[in-house]
Amino acid sequence: MADSKQNMAGISVKNPVTGQEIGVVPKSTRDDVQAAVERAQDAQLAWGAASVEERCRVIRKWGDLIWENQERVMRVIRDETGKNDTGAFIEIIGLDNYIAYYTKHASEFLRPERRQPIFPIIQRGKVYHKPLGVVGVISPWNYPMMLAFLDAVPALLAGNTVVIKPSEITPFSALVTADLAYQAGVPEHVIQIVTGDGETGAALVDYVDMICFTGSTATGRKVAVQAAERLIPFSLELGGKDAMIVLADADLDIAASAAITGSCENAGQMCISIERIYVEEKIYDRFVEKVKTLIHQMTMGAGDGLDIHMGSMTNERELLRVEEHIKDAVEKGAEVIYGGKRRPDLGPLFFEPTILINVDHSMKIMKEETFGPVIPIMKVYNVDEAVRLANDTEYGLSGSVFTRNLALGERIATRLNTGDVSVNRTQAVPASAAMSWGGQKYSGFGGRRGDKEGILRFTATQSILVDTQIGYKPGLTILDPTTLMFLKLMRLARRYVPFL
Ligand code: NAD
Repeated sequence: MADSKQNMAGISVKNPVTGQEIGVVPKSTRDDVQAAVERAQDAQLAWGAASVEERCRVIRKWGDLIWENQERVMRVIRDETGKNDTGAFIEIIGLDNYIAYYTKHASEFLRPERRQPIFPIIQRGKVYHKPLGVVGVISPWNYPMMLAFLDAVPALLAGNTVVIKPSEITPFSALVTADLAYQAGVPEHVIQIVTGDGETGAALVDYVDMICFTGSTATGRKVAVQAAERLIPFSLELGGKDAMIVLADADLDIAASAAITGSCENAGQMCISIERIYVEEKIYDRFVEKVKTLIHQMTMGAGDGLDIHMGSMTNERELLRVEEHIKDAVEKGAEVIYGGKRRPDLGPLFFEPTILINVDHSMKIMKEETFGPVIPIMKVYNVDEAVRLANDTEYGLSGSVFTRNLALGERIATRLNTGDVSVNRTQAVPASAAMSWGGQKYSGFGGRRGDKEGILRFTATQSILVDTQIGYKPGLTILDPTTLMFLKLMRLARRYVPFL
């Protein structure tokens, strides 16, 4: 926690399964945020001056400590989200994967790159990737540990310091993980956590050199406006309405299982959740039957172990929206063939995994982000109709296509207007740190996670040209006779010399 004078009003954090208070965190004021950013600016001087290898060494050690303390961290995540062990473990694996990838490749990605200046040989050109300064990270509650740090890791390795504002619903996952960073040797003010709600988040946007936001599209839009006023770089990772397309030749057992895991992982509270499924008419009935058979085998509850397939939802607001979307769909002709109800016997926010059929695009469930364990399945005549409907959305995050014809699957994938698509898997691109991902349309803006671009978005590009002054004669116009001669020579040479 940032060692600032905090507003003692505090925010009570509750366990969604038991309803019990887990603890209280301070609601950081604007002054607290400003002070944290100033400390981060001071700390950045030494952190940014250290070699990339030195930064990688400390971050790698942090990753090892998180891995060694996984049970403790998972307990904190589960207590404040109500998710199952799988959901919590995915957070550990996801961050670990990013730490492994970026600590291995950061020096290569950040190395100055040679570029051709206007007069080769006489001049040398290089592009440098310099830290931006203090990066602010604002994160949501659905993956509260992983998403507080997934962007912070490349930002830190690029030489920035970070101030993180986790969701007020789940701040402890970020706090416990930041403590492990300090134990690993990350200097205290290189990573700081400021707790608070939207006001604290808005204050952070006002002081940092770049803002990296993950959350809803509505809040992302406010952050973008505020960042634009300050002309600071920003990146937005927002909501989604991901589609899955099942072709007639797909392996239906795999597709049915993917429909369930893709829609119900983390009780459907995942930005890249499968939120609608389009199935070719020929296999529609068989597919629906298989999903229904499989879903009966799911275990829901608050217990431990990877054989609990679904945990609780995290907050009432989300649950109310899920119920509203189902009600709207049923009123417009949809049929619930499994689930559709709360399970108060398990806890106040448990909701059954739910299958909906007879759905269409007049319903909220097919157009707006539902963010719950709902599987709406729609019959389509052919691939073209599936692609048209999949693209009929304001969102463009991720998606998937199931077919045994891999080349066709890849071709269909390119027709989807989303940041990534997996063929015969769901959510597989974001799991691969070397493949960048990020939304189009209302799902994201301003940079992608993963790969080289996922670290370079936290840098300022600076091009530097060094002139040897060979043939350089002092003159009173920029087009002195020697320069003019060189320019004409270059124009000619470019026609015949391939590397110019
Ligand atoms: P949210 O927008 O309500 O809150 C996100 C964060 O923004 C929180 O920390 C909140 O305190 C803060 N905030 C609220 N108002 C603010 C303001 N005016 N200025 C600055 N910060 C402010 O989102 P949520 O409910 O926490 O998260 C769920 C949403 O996040 C879903 O839409 C989901 O799809 C999306 N999400 C996207 C990704 C992705 O990578 N694309 C990942 C996870 C979640």
